[in-house]
Amino acid sequence: MQVPVDHLTAFVSAIFAAAGCDAAEAGRVASGLVDANLAGHDSHGVARVPRYVDWLQSGETEAGRSIEIVTEQGSLAVVDGRYGFGATVGAEAVDLGIAIARRQGSAIVALRHAGHLGRIGQWAERALEAGLISMHFVNVAGSRIVAPFGGVDKCLSTAPIAFAFPVPDGPPVVLDFATSAVAEGKVLVASNGGKPLPDGSLIQPDGSLTTDPATLYGPLDRPGDRNHKNGEGAIRTMGDHKGSGLALMCELLCGALVGSGTSGPADHRFANGMVSIYLDPALFGSAETIAAETRRFCDFVRGSRPAMPGTSVLLPGDPERTTRATRLAEGVPLPAGTWAAILETAGRLGVQAPAVAAA
Ligand code: NAD
Repeated sequence: MQVPVDHLTAFVSAIFAAAGCDAAEAGRVASGLVDANLAGHDSHGVARVPRYVDWLQSGETEAGRSIEIVTEQGSLAVVDGRYGFGATVGAEAVDLGIAIARRQGSAIVALRHAGHLGRIGQWAERALEAGLISMHFVNVAGSRIVAPFGGVDKCLSTAPIAFAFPVPDGPPVVLDFATSAVAEGKVLVASNGGKPLPDGSLIQPDGSLTTDPATLYGPLDRPGDRNHKNGEGAIRTMGDHKGSGLALMCELLCGALVGSGTSGPADHRFANGMVSIYLDPALFGSAETIAAETRRFCDFVRGSRPAMPGTSVLLPGDPERTTRATRLAEGVPLPAGTWAAILETAGRLGVQAPAVAAA
Protein backbone atom coordinates (compact mmCIF):
# COMPACT_ATOMS: atom_id res chain seq x y z
CA MET A 1 0.00 0.00 0.00
CA GLN A 2 1.52 3.31 -1.14
CA VAL A 3 -0.43 6.38 0.05
CA PRO A 4 0.25 9.90 -1.34
CA VAL A 5 1.37 12.28 1.39
CA ASP A 6 -1.46 14.82 1.07
CA HIS A 7 -4.17 12.12 1.11
CA LEU A 8 -2.62 10.43 4.12
CA THR A 9 -2.27 13.72 6.04
CA ALA A 10 -5.87 14.72 5.30
CA PHE A 11 -7.17 11.26 6.29
CA VAL A 12 -5.25 11.16 9.60
CA SER A 13 -6.26 14.74 10.33
CA ALA A 14 -9.94 13.81 9.78
CA ILE A 15 -9.53 10.89 12.20
CA PHE A 16 -8.22 13.16 14.96
CA ALA A 17 -10.89 15.78 14.28
CA ALA A 18 -13.56 13.06 14.56
CA ALA A 19 -11.91 11.86 17.78
CA GLY A 20 -12.27 15.29 19.41
CA CYS A 21 -9.31 17.52 18.43
CA ASP A 22 -9.94 20.96 16.98
CA ALA A 23 -8.94 21.35 13.33
CA ALA A 24 -5.58 23.00 14.08
CA GLU A 25 -4.50 20.33 16.56
CA ALA A 26 -5.78 17.49 14.34
CA GLY A 27 -3.64 18.94 11.52
CA ARG A 28 -0.58 19.23 13.77
CA VAL A 29 -0.89 15.65 15.00
CA ALA A 30 -1.41 14.34 11.46
CA SER A 31 1.50 16.34 10.02
CA GLY A 32 3.81 15.16 12.82
CA LEU A 33 2.96 11.51 12.24
CA VAL A 34 3.21 11.70 8.45
CA ASP A 35 6.47 13.66 8.77
CA ALA A 36 7.95 10.74 10.74
CA ASN A 37 6.97 8.41 7.86
CA LEU A 38 8.58 10.83 5.42
CA ALA A 39 11.78 10.72 7.45
CA GLY A 40 11.64 6.92 7.23
CA HIS A 41 10.80 6.44 10.91
CA ASP A 42 7.62 4.45 10.35
CA SER A 43 7.83 3.48 14.00
CA HIS A 44 6.71 7.03 14.83
CA GLY A 45 4.42 7.55 11.88
CA VAL A 46 0.78 6.80 11.19
CA ALA A 47 1.14 3.29 12.68
CA ARG A 48 0.54 5.20 15.93
CA VAL A 49 -2.93 6.42 14.94
CA PRO A 50 -4.92 3.65 16.73
CA ARG A 51 -2.91 4.06 19.91
CA TYR A 52 -3.14 7.89 19.90
CA VAL A 53 -6.93 7.66 19.43
CA ASP A 54 -7.20 5.11 22.26
CA TRP A 55 -5.18 7.42 24.51
CA LEU A 56 -7.40 10.38 23.63
CA GLN A 57 -10.55 8.38 24.31
CA SER A 58 -9.24 6.98 27.61
CA GLY A 59 -8.08 10.43 28.76
CA GLU A 60 -4.38 9.44 28.80
CA THR A 61 -3.71 12.27 26.29
CA GLU A 62 -5.85 15.42 26.39
CA ALA A 63 -6.92 17.55 23.45
CA GLY A 64 -6.69 21.34 23.50
CA ARG A 65 -3.95 21.61 26.16
CA SER A 66 -1.16 24.22 26.16
CA ILE A 67 2.02 24.34 28.21
CA GLU A 68 1.98 25.98 31.61
CA ILE A 69 5.11 27.77 32.83
CA VAL A 70 6.33 26.27 36.11
CA THR A 71 9.58 28.26 36.42
CA GLU A 72 11.24 30.82 34.18
CA GLN A 73 14.51 32.27 35.34
CA GLY A 74 17.29 33.66 33.15
CA SER A 75 17.79 31.20 30.32
CA LEU A 76 15.99 28.33 32.10
CA ALA A 77 12.33 27.46 31.82
CA VAL A 78 10.47 24.49 33.28
CA VAL A 79 7.08 23.91 31.67
CA ASP A 80 4.26 21.43 32.16
CA GLY A 81 2.63 19.90 29.08
CA ARG A 82 -0.43 18.85 31.15
CA TYR A 83 -0.69 15.60 29.14
CA GLY A 84 -1.58 17.55 25.99
CA PHE A 85 -0.73 16.22 22.53
CA GLY A 86 3.02 16.22 21.97
CA ALA A 87 2.43 17.88 18.60
CA THR A 88 1.03 20.89 20.44
CA VAL A 89 2.93 21.12 23.73
CA GLY A 90 6.22 19.97 22.17
CA ALA A 91 6.02 22.76 19.59
CA GLU A 92 5.18 25.32 22.29
CA ALA A 93 8.10 24.22 24.49
CA VAL A 94 10.54 24.35 21.56
CA ASP A 95 9.25 27.77 20.49
CA LEU A 96 9.82 29.00 24.04
CA GLY A 97 13.40 27.67 23.90
CA ILE A 98 13.94 29.45 20.58
CA ALA A 99 12.57 32.73 21.99
CA ILE A 100 14.78 32.54 25.11
CA ALA A 101 17.88 31.60 23.08
CA ARG A 102 17.29 34.53 20.73
CA ARG A 103 17.21 36.84 23.77
CA GLN A 104 19.95 35.25 25.88
CA GLY A 105 22.12 33.31 23.42
CA SER A 106 21.29 29.98 25.02
CA ALA A 107 18.34 28.29 26.68
CA ILE A 108 17.42 25.24 28.67
CA VAL A 109 13.77 24.25 28.52
CA ALA A 110 12.53 21.31 30.55
CA LEU A 111 9.15 19.95 29.55
CA ARG A 112 7.26 17.53 31.77
CA HIS A 113 4.02 15.59 31.27
CA ALA A 114 3.93 15.92 27.49
CA GLY A 115 1.82 13.57 25.43
CA HIS A 116 3.86 11.48 22.99
CA LEU A 117 6.44 13.76 21.35
CA GLY A 118 6.89 11.45 18.37
CA ARG A 119 10.10 11.69 16.37
CA ILE A 120 12.37 13.79 18.58
CA GLY A 121 14.45 14.90 15.58
CA GLN A 122 11.49 17.04 14.47
CA TRP A 123 12.06 19.29 17.51
CA ALA A 124 15.78 19.61 16.78
CA GLU A 125 14.86 20.51 13.17
CA ARG A 126 12.40 23.14 14.40
CA ALA A 127 15.23 24.81 16.36
CA LEU A 128 17.51 24.43 13.35
CA GLU A 129 15.04 26.40 11.22
CA ALA A 130 15.53 29.22 13.73
CA GLY A 131 19.32 28.96 13.25
CA LEU A 132 19.98 27.22 16.57
CA ILE A 133 22.02 24.18 17.58
CA SER A 134 20.02 22.00 19.99
CA MET A 135 20.23 18.87 22.11
CA HIS A 136 17.25 16.98 23.48
CA PHE A 137 17.14 14.31 26.18
CA VAL A 138 13.84 12.45 26.60
CA ASN A 139 12.27 9.84 28.85
CA VAL A 140 8.96 8.03 28.57
CA ALA A 141 7.08 7.66 31.86
CA GLY A 142 4.56 4.82 31.89
CA SER A 143 6.50 2.95 29.21
CA ARG A 144 8.79 0.56 31.05
CA ILE A 145 9.93 -1.69 28.20
CA VAL A 146 13.74 -1.78 28.16
CA ALA A 147 16.00 -4.03 30.23
CA PRO A 148 19.09 -2.37 31.76
CA PHE A 149 22.49 -3.75 30.73
CA GLY A 150 23.07 -7.03 32.57
CA GLY A 151 19.37 -7.52 33.36
CA VAL A 152 16.18 -8.95 31.86
CA ASP A 153 13.49 -6.94 33.66
CA LYS A 154 11.74 -3.97 32.06
CA CYS A 155 13.16 -1.03 34.05
CA LEU A 156 13.84 1.75 31.50
CA SER A 157 12.02 3.52 28.69
CA THR A 158 13.42 3.80 25.16
CA ALA A 159 14.70 7.27 26.24
CA PRO A 160 15.63 8.92 22.92
CA ILE A 161 18.17 11.70 22.38
CA ALA A 162 18.46 14.11 19.45
CA PHE A 163 20.97 16.75 18.33
CA ALA A 164 20.94 19.10 15.37
CA PHE A 165 23.89 21.13 14.05
CA PRO A 166 23.66 23.52 11.09
CA VAL A 167 26.13 23.14 8.23
CA PRO A 168 26.34 26.37 6.22
CA ASP A 169 25.72 25.71 2.48
CA GLY A 170 25.09 22.05 3.22
CA PRO A 171 22.59 19.68 4.79
CA PRO A 172 22.48 19.87 8.60
CA VAL A 173 23.63 17.05 10.85
CA VAL A 174 20.61 15.64 12.70
CA LEU A 175 21.26 12.78 15.09
CA ASP A 176 18.12 11.24 16.56
CA PHE A 177 17.71 7.81 18.11
CA ALA A 178 16.34 5.78 20.98
CA THR A 179 18.92 4.58 23.51
CA SER A 180 17.31 1.14 23.23
CA ALA A 181 18.47 -1.33 20.57
CA VAL A 182 15.32 -0.35 18.64
CA ALA A 183 12.53 2.16 19.26
CA GLU A 184 9.33 0.50 20.53
CA GLY A 185 7.52 1.63 17.39
CA LYS A 186 9.88 -0.57 15.37
CA VAL A 187 8.65 -3.58 17.38
CA LEU A 188 5.09 -2.34 16.69
CA VAL A 189 5.78 -2.10 12.95
CA ALA A 190 7.40 -5.58 12.92
CA SER A 191 4.43 -7.01 14.83
CA ASN A 192 2.14 -5.75 12.04
CA GLY A 193 4.14 -7.43 9.28
CA GLY A 194 6.51 -4.52 8.60
CA LYS A 195 10.32 -4.51 8.62
CA PRO A 196 11.71 -7.33 10.80
CA LEU A 197 13.82 -6.42 13.85
CA PRO A 198 17.62 -6.61 13.80
CA ASP A 199 19.10 -9.69 15.50
CA GLY A 200 19.27 -9.54 19.27
CA SER A 201 16.89 -6.60 19.70
CA LEU A 202 14.79 -8.28 22.40
CA ILE A 203 15.61 -10.31 25.49
CA GLN A 204 13.50 -13.04 27.06
CA PRO A 205 13.13 -13.66 30.81
CA ASP A 206 15.67 -16.52 30.60
CA GLY A 207 18.26 -14.13 29.10
CA SER A 208 18.06 -15.51 25.55
CA LEU A 209 17.85 -13.05 22.63
CA THR A 210 15.08 -12.93 20.01
CA THR A 211 13.49 -10.82 17.27
CA ASP A 212 9.94 -12.08 17.92
CA PRO A 213 7.67 -9.08 18.78
CA ALA A 214 5.44 -11.46 20.80
CA THR A 215 8.18 -11.39 23.44
CA LEU A 216 7.20 -7.78 24.10
CA TYR A 217 3.47 -7.81 23.29
CA GLY A 218 2.30 -11.37 24.02
CA PRO A 219 0.23 -13.23 21.36
CA LEU A 220 -0.15 -11.24 18.11
CA ASP A 221 -3.54 -12.40 16.85
CA ARG A 222 -5.18 -8.96 16.27
CA PRO A 223 -3.66 -6.15 14.17
CA GLY A 224 -3.00 -2.91 15.98
CA ASP A 225 -3.88 -4.06 19.48
CA ARG A 226 -0.44 -4.10 21.09
CA ASN A 227 0.38 -3.68 24.76
CA HIS A 228 3.89 -4.17 26.13
CA LYS A 229 2.37 -5.16 29.46
CA ASN A 230 1.20 -8.43 27.85
CA GLY A 231 4.69 -9.71 27.02
CA GLU A 232 7.27 -11.25 29.35
CA GLY A 233 10.37 -9.97 27.56
CA ALA A 234 12.02 -6.58 27.05
CA ILE A 235 13.87 -4.49 24.46
CA ARG A 236 17.64 -4.38 25.00
CA THR A 237 19.61 -1.15 25.27
CA MET A 238 21.87 -0.10 22.40
CA GLY A 239 25.63 -0.44 22.85
CA ASP A 240 25.42 -2.55 26.01
CA HIS A 241 26.35 -0.53 29.14
CA LYS A 242 26.71 2.71 27.13
CA GLY A 243 23.11 2.91 25.89
CA SER A 244 21.92 1.66 29.25
CA GLY A 245 23.85 4.47 30.97
CA LEU A 246 22.49 7.12 28.58
CA ALA A 247 18.92 5.87 29.16
CA LEU A 248 19.46 6.04 32.90
CA MET A 249 20.63 9.67 32.64
CA CYS A 250 17.58 10.55 30.48
CA GLU A 251 15.31 9.00 33.12
CA LEU A 252 17.07 10.89 35.92
CA LEU A 253 17.07 14.24 34.06
CA CYS A 254 13.57 14.15 32.59
CA GLY A 255 11.80 11.83 34.99
CA ALA A 256 13.29 12.63 38.40
CA LEU A 257 14.63 16.20 38.02
CA VAL A 258 11.97 17.67 35.75
CA GLY A 259 9.19 15.60 37.28
CA SER A 260 7.73 13.60 34.39
CA GLY A 261 8.14 10.42 36.47
CA THR A 262 10.57 7.52 36.18
CA SER A 263 9.90 3.81 35.84
CA GLY A 264 9.15 1.65 38.84
CA PRO A 265 6.92 -1.16 40.06
CA ALA A 266 3.95 1.26 40.02
CA ASP A 267 3.49 2.74 36.55
CA HIS A 268 3.09 6.48 35.96
CA ARG A 269 0.58 7.93 33.55
CA PHE A 270 2.10 7.93 30.04
CA ALA A 271 4.16 11.07 29.41
CA ASN A 272 7.27 12.21 27.64
CA GLY A 273 9.67 14.40 29.58
CA MET A 274 12.22 16.38 27.57
CA VAL A 275 15.20 18.49 28.60
CA SER A 276 16.34 20.65 25.67
CA ILE A 277 19.43 22.82 25.35
CA TYR A 278 19.54 25.54 22.68
CA LEU A 279 22.69 27.39 21.57
CA ASP A 280 22.96 30.37 19.25
CA PRO A 281 26.09 29.65 17.15
CA ALA A 282 26.50 33.38 16.48
CA LEU A 283 27.80 33.85 20.04
CA PHE A 284 30.60 31.31 19.76
CA GLY A 285 32.98 33.20 17.49
CA SER A 286 33.43 34.19 13.89
CA ALA A 287 30.57 32.77 11.78
CA GLU A 288 32.99 32.32 8.83
CA THR A 289 35.53 30.34 10.88
CA ILE A 290 32.88 28.07 12.39
CA ALA A 291 31.24 27.56 8.99
CA ALA A 292 34.56 26.72 7.32
CA GLU A 293 35.59 24.23 10.02
CA THR A 294 32.12 22.63 10.06
CA ARG A 295 32.04 22.22 6.28
CA ARG A 296 35.61 20.96 6.13
CA PHE A 297 35.04 18.36 8.84
CA CYS A 298 31.71 17.11 7.40
CA ASP A 299 33.29 16.80 3.94
CA PHE A 300 36.30 14.99 5.47
CA VAL A 301 34.08 12.39 7.19
CA ARG A 302 31.72 12.02 4.21
CA GLY A 303 34.68 11.58 1.87
CA SER A 304 36.35 8.89 3.98
CA ARG A 305 36.67 5.33 2.67
CA PRO A 306 33.57 3.15 3.07
CA ALA A 307 33.86 -0.16 4.90
CA MET A 308 31.86 -1.92 2.20
CA PRO A 309 32.50 -1.38 -1.51
CA GLY A 310 29.62 0.36 -3.29
CA THR A 311 28.42 2.17 -0.15
CA SER A 312 29.32 5.61 1.20
CA VAL A 313 29.92 7.07 4.61
CA LEU A 314 26.84 9.06 5.62
CA LEU A 315 26.28 11.68 8.28
CA PRO A 316 23.29 11.59 10.64
CA GLY A 317 20.32 13.15 8.89
CA ASP A 318 21.36 11.86 5.43
CA PRO A 319 19.17 8.71 5.44
CA GLU A 320 16.09 10.72 6.50
CA ARG A 321 16.67 13.29 3.73
CA THR A 322 16.93 10.60 1.06
CA THR A 323 13.81 8.78 2.27
CA ARG A 324 11.87 12.04 2.47
CA ALA A 325 12.66 12.88 -1.15
CA THR A 326 11.53 9.42 -2.31
CA ARG A 327 8.35 9.32 -0.27
CA LEU A 328 7.31 12.86 -1.18
CA ALA A 329 7.48 11.74 -4.80
CA GLU A 330 6.10 8.21 -4.48
CA GLY A 331 3.89 8.23 -1.37
CA VAL A 332 4.25 6.56 2.02
CA PRO A 333 4.50 2.74 1.96
CA LEU A 334 2.34 1.13 4.65
CA PRO A 335 2.24 -2.57 5.55
CA ALA A 336 -1.21 -4.17 5.26
CA GLY A 337 -1.47 -4.68 9.04
CA THR A 338 -0.76 -1.02 9.78
CA TRP A 339 -3.29 0.14 7.19
CA ALA A 340 -5.92 -2.33 8.50
CA ALA A 341 -5.49 -1.02 12.05
CA ILE A 342 -5.88 2.62 10.88
CA LEU A 343 -8.98 1.74 8.83
CA GLU A 344 -10.48 -0.01 11.84
CA THR A 345 -9.98 3.13 13.97
CA ALA A 346 -11.31 5.40 11.20
CA GLY A 347 -14.36 3.15 10.75
CA ARG A 348 -15.21 3.34 14.46
CA LEU A 349 -15.13 7.15 14.17
CA GLY A 350 -17.13 7.24 10.93
CA VAL A 351 -14.23 8.57 8.84
CA GLN A 352 -14.03 7.47 5.20
CA ALA A 353 -10.67 6.25 3.86
CA PRO A 354 -9.31 8.20 0.85
CA ALA A 355 -10.41 6.56 -2.41
CA VAL A 356 -6.86 6.54 -3.75
CA ALA A 357 -5.68 4.40 -0.85
CA ALA A 358 -8.72 2.10 -0.94
CA ALA A 359 -7.89 1.42 -4.59
P1 NAD B 1 17.65 4.70 14.27
O1 NAD B 1 18.29 3.53 14.94
O2 NAD B 1 17.02 4.50 12.94
O3 NAD B 1 18.78 5.84 14.16
C1 NAD B 1 18.47 7.03 13.52
C2 NAD B 1 19.66 7.96 13.56
O4 NAD B 1 20.82 7.34 13.00
C3 NAD B 1 19.38 9.18 12.69
O5 NAD B 1 20.02 10.30 13.22
C4 NAD B 1 20.00 8.77 11.35
O6 NAD B 1 20.32 9.88 10.54
C5 NAD B 1 21.24 8.05 11.82
N1 NAD B 1 21.71 7.08 10.84
C6 NAD B 1 21.01 6.03 10.36
N2 NAD B 1 21.75 5.35 9.47
C7 NAD B 1 22.94 6.00 9.37
C8 NAD B 1 24.13 5.79 8.62
N3 NAD B 1 24.24 4.77 7.75
N4 NAD B 1 25.14 6.63 8.79
C9 NAD B 1 25.05 7.68 9.64
N5 NAD B 1 23.95 7.94 10.39
C10 NAD B 1 22.91 7.10 10.25
O7 NAD B 1 16.57 5.39 15.22
P2 NAD B 1 15.67 4.70 16.36
O8 NAD B 1 16.46 4.48 17.60
O9 NAD B 1 14.96 3.55 15.78
O10 NAD B 1 14.61 5.87 16.63
C11 NAD B 1 13.57 6.11 15.71
C12 NAD B 1 12.78 7.31 16.10
O11 NAD B 1 12.05 7.02 17.29
C13 NAD B 1 13.58 8.56 16.42
O12 NAD B 1 13.01 9.61 15.66
C14 NAD B 1 13.33 8.82 17.92
O13 NAD B 1 13.28 10.17 18.28
C15 NAD B 1 11.98 8.19 18.07
N6 NAD B 1 11.67 7.85 19.47
C16 NAD B 1 10.74 8.58 20.13
C17 NAD B 1 10.38 8.24 21.43
C18 NAD B 1 9.35 9.04 22.19
O14 NAD B 1 9.03 8.67 23.30
N7 NAD B 1 8.84 10.11 21.67
C19 NAD B 1 10.97 7.14 22.05
C20 NAD B 1 11.94 6.42 21.35
C21 NAD B 1 12.28 6.77 20.04
